[in-house]
Amino acid sequence: MAKQGSKKKTEKPDAAALDFRSMFQYAPAPESSAHVQLASQYELFINGKWEKPLKGEYFETRNPANEQVLARIAMAGKEDVDRAVTAARNAYEQTWSKISAKERAKYIYRIARLIQERAREFAVIESLDGGKPIRESRDMDVPLAANHFFYYAGWADKLDYAFPGKKPHSLGVAGQIIPWNFPLLMAAWKIAPALATGNTVVLKPAETTPLTALKLAELIKDAGLPDGVVNIITGAGATGAALVNHPDINKIAFTGSTEVGKIIQKAVAGTGKKITLELGGKAANIIFEDAPIDQAVEGVINGIFFNQGHVCCAGSRLFVQESVADKVIRKLKDRMESLIVGDPLDKNTDIGAINSKEQLNKIKQYLKIGVNEGAEMYQPACAIPAKGFFCKPTLFLHTSQSHRIVQEEIFGPVLAIQTFRTVEEVIEKANNTPYGLSAGVWTDKGSKIFNLTTKLKAGVVWANTYNKFDPTSPFGGYKESGYGREGGLHGLQPYLKFEA
Ligand code: ADP
Repeated sequence: MAKQGSKKKTEKPDAAALDFRSMFQYAPAPESSAHVQLASQYELFINGKWEKPLKGEYFETRNPANEQVLARIAMAGKEDVDRAVTAARNAYEQTWSKISAKERAKYIYRIARLIQERAREFAVIESLDGGKPIRESRDMDVPLAANHFFYYAGWADKLDYAFPGKKPHSLGVAGQIIPWNFPLLMAAWKIAPALATGNTVVLKPAETTPLTALKLAELIKDAGLPDGVVNIITGAGATGAALVNHPDINKIAFTGSTEVGKIIQKAVAGTGKKITLELGGKAANIIFEDAPIDQAVEGVINGIFFNQGHVCCAGSRLFVQESVADKVIRKLKDRMESLIVGDPLDKNTDIGAINSKEQLNKIKQYLKIGVNEGAEMYQPACAIPAKGFFCKPTLFLHTSQSHRIVQEEIFGPVLAIQTFRTVEEVIEKANNTPYGLSAGVWTDKGSKIFNLTTKLKAGVVWANTYNKFDPTSPFGGYKESGYGREGGLHGLQPYLKFEA
């Protein structure tokens, strides 16, 4: 429990900031979805064809902003997984491993170009199915997905140069399982390096966000990729487990929760399958007194709120140097007053819908836990839509290391704030977590940045920025955040074996 007696109520936001909402009312600016074509039912993409699930089972995917059903989706059973893996194996043996690396690259470039051509459609579907603001899907998810394919297309015929002195070989069939927070981007992170290194793929998107992966399947067909090179199967955890346990898979790439990551690691142990795991996080964002405070505040807001906190590397713990804590917290509250929570398709929206009812309930549970633990909760006065799954951006003040809201991944727009005095203290506090995916440092001093980047146990450390991604840059975690890297040259290795 926090020491209630010593608790000093933090400053209220500026009256001027509270006026902001009435001063700057934005007119609605919804992106049109008229150009988007969604079928009422989607089948499994196996061997270049749309196949019905053998057991005839389907589930629904809903728009989390209004709870309306978007489409019925095939539920792949064990036999369907087997069909997909067999198709991928045949494609590997008969075509993909036989064509030249230059030819492989051409297909991957074609996928990248087609994503660019259909960017608007993909962005709208991503926001409809996942709830993220159109600004995010339009400016981040879709362009980054295209860039990933471009980047790895470039490596396809240069693998010998990527690893001088070693002879790289493809593995065979990769089973890939992705979560709901970046559905298209995670599919690109998985498929692009696998194809560039000469492997074939069976990919399973998350059950709440299958649509952009299925659209990607359409696009892959349009790109003329040989049948069976990429197979996309939909379903829930049991489908993922069947893929993980299939004996003819050579590699598993998984992004998702630490809990499921551990199950997969156990399932794969001793099978000889290669594995990469990108799991949860509880990132520390650290603001020193010499930081450019306004930029830091904007970076913190971007790091935890702009994507509903649905980012495994979200900066969900904030450490502020004591001397500037009051100022930073006041500015954070001011900025939070101007955040717009609402329709994901509106271009003014900062915080869209929480991905599912289950996730919203989980976040609400943590809000209760935080209050019961004695932390001070702050939410802005903004309205949230009555229908759909929405959560106000939330600060927790007066938190301590032992609080569950500080230790556990919430995966929502919830920021826990602590203060610190010295560099040593903040390093110790920041590293005091089972996770180690990312961190952020805000300071004017380059030396401080270098000191912290070597001591923070996180796979990625951003300095004076946050949530910046680039296909050339490797990404991945330490400790319970998983292992293996995606992106960059490092992202090729998990899909290759080397001859000595
Ligand atoms: P999140 O908490 O982000 O939903 P999960 O780890 O539950 O993360 O899900 C990530 C992906 O893993 C989803 O595609 C989900 O269907 C899949 N999945 C869930 N359980 C299993 C399992 N036991 N084996 C393999 N995949 C699974």
